[in-house]
Amino acid sequence: MTTHAQRAATFLEDGPRTDWHDKSLWHVRSKRDGSIAGIPEWEALRQLGSDIKDNVLSNLDTYLEEFEQRATANGVIVHWAKDAEEHNRIVHGILARHRVDRIVKSKSMLTEECHLNQYLEEQGVEVIDTDLGERIIQMRNEPPSHIVMPAIHLKKEEIGQLFHEQLGTDEGASDPQYLTEAARQHLRAKFLAAKAGITGVNFAVAETGGIVVCTNEGNADMGVHLAPVQIHCMGIEKVIPRAEHLGVFTRLLGRSATGQPITIYTSHHHKPKPGGEMHVVIVDNGRTEQLGREDFRNSLKCIRCGACMNTCPIYRRSGGHSYDHTIPGPIGSILSPGLDLKKHGDLAFASTLCGSCSDVCPVKIDIHAQLYKWRQVVSEEGHLAKSKTIPLLGAGAVLSRGGLYNFMGKAARTALNIVPRAVVYNRFNPWGESRELPEVPKESFKEWYARTQTPEA
Ligand code: SF4
Repeated sequence: MTTHAQRAATFLEDGPRTDWHDKSLWHVRSKRDGSIAGIPEWEALRQLGSDIKDNVLSNLDTYLEEFEQRATANGVIVHWAKDAEEHNRIVHGILARHRVDRIVKSKSMLTEECHLNQYLEEQGVEVIDTDLGERIIQMRNEPPSHIVMPAIHLKKEEIGQLFHEQLGTDEGASDPQYLTEAARQHLRAKFLAAKAGITGVNFAVAETGGIVVCTNEGNADMGVHLAPVQIHCMGIEKVIPRAEHLGVFTRLLGRSATGQPITIYTSHHHKPKPGGEMHVVIVDNGRTEQLGREDFRNSLKCIRCGACMNTCPIYRRSGGHSYDHTIPGPIGSILSPGLDLKKHGDLAFASTLCGSCSDVCPVKIDIHAQLYKWRQVVSEEGHLAKSKTIPLLGAGAVLSRGGLYNFMGKAARTALNIVPRAVVYNRFNPWGESRELPEVPKESFKEWYARTQTPEA
């Protein structure tokens, strides 16, 4: 089993890609900053979004039942799935009943989480992802590396080569407009041939029983409008109480994600089209357990905007695949340890704890504080590597004894002035590979303070 640090090291081997990835995401973060600068009430809007989500998490059962009742009254068929396996079986059951062997699917992190594509393909169903970024990574047999920009780790030249091999575009072509047009023609045929369309859900409104899907490409709409059977898959946390709350979240989502005032398409689905069927599959898959963890429950407020990824200095320079989880970045690092602490516990350390993720989060999730709490859980449950526990035990012993701390400080100041450089800067000190210690002071801060500060009379 590899660690996040090892996978990040692999990403960092390609220096130019790392720099470009870093800059691209920072550009998106800057667009977000520019966009919210025009909203004087931005902080009040964040607080409102956070409060609505707090209310949802405290009354989840009530809102979900209300949603089911209203949706059913509208003619929608609502299903409940306790985990990924049940979700996949339900979706396949619907398709099998209608003898569907090819579907189109728009971006849905929930279906990624449940590995729906793989499951359906094993049952003989052709699945075509229709979001451009998703289609690119599907052609490459890769998972998404970002929740909003799934192919952000790829350069246009790599996509040009992929399209040349799989779609027959001109060799060496990398013009984004040309490549997008080729993808459009390729997908058009798939849309027309599909017998069912699957989408994710951004918001499910308890008051109306309707669902809302936000995209920039219109692919979700095309899929569900053309196919007679439409299926929408949502986690239990996607419900919001009233239609009037939608405005709060749509204003927060587009700006936080890409700096847009609103996503290009914000589509409302309330009932099946004439002669068609509309299904909503509501999935738990570990969310109830997370809800029961007092310190981590508000991670379920996430509206999947990706802003915490765009701003995170670790994510930007380690790439989404280094997280080895469906949701990467800071939010993924507080969701995944709850699913498998042994496997994902190291993600709690994939952070500088700078707090930038919490600052940009549109629903005010205290992400960096939760990362810190997960570190404590990882340590208490014995999943910390020896390379961390031994130095930490030593540091704990020194930092908790004033006399020993003073002695060690003096010893270190003396030693650093006389030991050969190779004793400090060697292969056991990766920190020193790109940094120099500052000049060693002659005295400690405490000594300097006692010498220079005169106590007030
Ligand atoms: S945690 Fe906050 S910033 Fe990160 S994706 Fe979710 S809503 Fe966006």
